[in-house]
Amino acid sequence: TAKGMGRNNYQAYVAVPEESHQQRLALEAKLRQAERNGELRVFYQPQVDTTTEDIVGMEALIRWEHPELGMISPGFFIPLAEETGLIIPIGEWVLRAACQDARRWQVRFSLPLRISVNLSPLQLRQPNLVGLVAAVLEETGVPAHLLDLEVTESISVKSIPNLLETLQALRELGCQISIDDFGTGQSSLDYIKRFPADRIKIDQAFVRNIGLDPDDEAIVQATIGMAHNLNRAVVAEGVEIEAHLDFLRGLGCEVLQGYLFCRPLPAASFESLLSERERLHQESRISNLQD
Ligand code: C2E
Ligand code: MG
Ligand code: MG
Ligand code: MG
Repeated sequence: TAKGMGRNNYQAYVAVPEESHQQRLALEAKLRQAERNGELRVFYQPQVDTTTEDIVGMEALIRWEHPELGMISPGFFIPLAEETGLIIPIGEWVLRAACQDARRWQVRFSLPLRISVNLSPLQLRQPNLVGLVAAVLEETGVPAHLLDLEVTESISVKSIPNLLETLQALRELGCQISIDDFGTGQSSLDYIKRFPADRIKIDQAFVRNIGLDPDDEAIVQATIGMAHNLNRAVVAEGVEIEAHLDFLRGLGCEVLQGYLFCRPLPAASFESLLSERERLHQESRISNLQD
């Protein structure tokens, strides 16, 4: 082993990447089995209307429940899935599962709940992506305008042939497009102008500093102003405290998402949340009638 080589630092240095390469291969093999073994879950985080605080939709966020390692966050395995191409079957599975759950809730609660699904750069390179989305909408019965596809701003147009055309085709199907993690990429304003999107999601890196850093507040304010002038709605992510809510409300940001309202929940818990909300609404309607 490297340790047995005494002071030979070079050997000690190369041993580390070798070891992590082994671990990486092992993890990749496990991820390959994860879908088949039923270890993948979709969690849902509510998106609320800034004015009414009603739940208007939910973002689908994948989790991997590994039998030994426990719940693994997507920040850890999505990059691996992206590098190995496993994101293609996994992404398709998420899209289908999220649309099935969303349709069940749209019908059960008679609400136009919007379902937001993250698309990875590799999925956007698949020539049959538009066909897949159309097929899933058809299978599940989700109205196209209630499916929102989130595409990260840092995605490079150059590396994805026909990106803008693909997004345009998805919009022609009737789906909505959101630019995720807005402000963290290096897009030019011209690119933003041409990017066919309905909504902009302000990254939590900026939202987090509301009340702390006037520069970040200025960026949030300018982003919301620009988005509205371009006829894009704004969603703020990472809303954690009342001060964030107050600031964003004052600027007319339409939709909020963050721990202040709710963490991402397993499907069954999300459904319980919706039925609790429905019960509260009905109670307040009855008491309004009695007043
Ligand atoms: P994202 O799409 O920007 O998702 C928002 C992330 O912020 C989620 O992390 C969510 O749990 C977290 N978050 C929500 N509210 C708050 C808050 O108030 N404070 C803080 N600190 N964090 C908050 P998560 O679930 O770990 O997902 C991380 C990233 O992994 C996502 O970022 C997305 O890029 C990717 N991801 C998740 N699910 C999928 C998927 O199904 N497909 C693809 N391609 N990527 C996914
Ligand atoms: Mg997202
Ligand atoms: Mg985001
Ligand atoms: Mg983000």
